[in-house]
Amino acid sequence: MHTPWESLANEHILGIAPYEPGKPVEELERELGIHDAIKLASNENPLSPSDRVQKAIVAALPALNRYPDGSAHYLRHALARKHGVSPDQVFLGNGSNELIELVVRTFLRSGDEAVVPHPSFVVYPMIVQAVGGVRVMVMLKDYRLDLEAMARAITPMTKIVFIANPNNPTATIVTRDEVEAFMARLPERTIAVFDEAYIEFAQGPDFPDGLDYVRAGRRVVVLRTFSKAASLAGLRVGYGIADADAVSLINRIRAPFNVNSLAQAAALAALEDDSHVLECVRMIDAGRHYLYEEFKALGLRYAPSRANFILLDVGRNASDIYQRLLKEGVIVRPLTPFGLESALRVTIGTPQENRRFVKALRSVLGKPAA
Ligand SMILES: *Cc1c(COP(=O)(O)O)cnc(C)c1O
Repeated sequence: MHTPWESLANEHILGIAPYEPGKPVEELERELGIHDAIKLASNENPLSPSDRVQKAIVAALPALNRYPDGSAHYLRHALARKHGVSPDQVFLGNGSNELIELVVRTFLRSGDEAVVPHPSFVVYPMIVQAVGGVRVMVMLKDYRLDLEAMARAITPMTKIVFIANPNNPTATIVTRDEVEAFMARLPERTIAVFDEAYIEFAQGPDFPDGLDYVRAGRRVVVLRTFSKAASLAGLRVGYGIADADAVSLINRIRAPFNVNSLAQAAALAALEDDSHVLECVRMIDAGRHYLYEEFKALGLRYAPSRANFILLDVGRNASDIYQRLLKEGVIVRPLTPFGLESALRVTIGTPQENRRFVKALRSVLGKPAA
């Protein structure tokens, strides 16, 4: 039975499970009677935006009576320069979440298929479903996107294929060679969306750059964000790069002021701040190796991470471990809703946060440090 409002709703959205946002840390602390909780649950950057970025935000405050620059002229031009593309190949969104929605709404017709890896970013299937598209879910293999199986899942009805590289929630990558083989099989009528939200953490000779395919004129859209390495998750700004014709179509449905003035100012300043990104990447690399050693000492398995988080197999019910970590003031993400019954996703934090997490984990697993 539908409620009266449900009978009024677009039927496509009725099948979508409601998103369950995490509680604010303060609320959780109050409920559990704890303080100093640490949040390693949303793959955020533990470092604040750099001074340079914070100053740019403050400098933009007096002009908040004005609408933002709807074309984000300076930011698009700076991004185009950085990536060696033309400014009309760059489009901006209120986080890359909005970019995913824009791409899907621009290209996916009702009944078209989208090939979606699973487990991966839950936003892909949600938006495909919302526009009446057909989600063709392809399971990961050994915690990695199975590009071979994804290529096989492409039919004449397939309009979009999502490739999260690195993938969330597993932090694994698909390699340059694997992507090359996949792209050789991608038909002209199918768009590959490379979601590279964590690219700064993934660099290495084996890591492919989706932009190479944009530059080669393939049907590829590359999505990037300022939410992770640039420490700007709270401001919501992401960008996409594609062929200028594709961008022009996408811009037809983009709300004119979708990226606010503070976000534009901050992102522009962040682009000139490679040292902040470098500092974060170094800290995350060190944190990852520290955590690997600790996991090994505890006899726990993990997926090799190329991002700022790790999929950890706790070898028992992950929801239970998650609840017990919460009581210790450490918030992580259980992957039980993805069908990964014994897996947690842990964001790599500052060295202090990582130590705190390990201490809590040891205590919860009944293996306190000697
Ligand atoms: C965090 C994340 C994003 C970034 O989302 P924003 O809306 O830019 O904050 C995009 N894709 C994946 C897979 C992510 O994990």
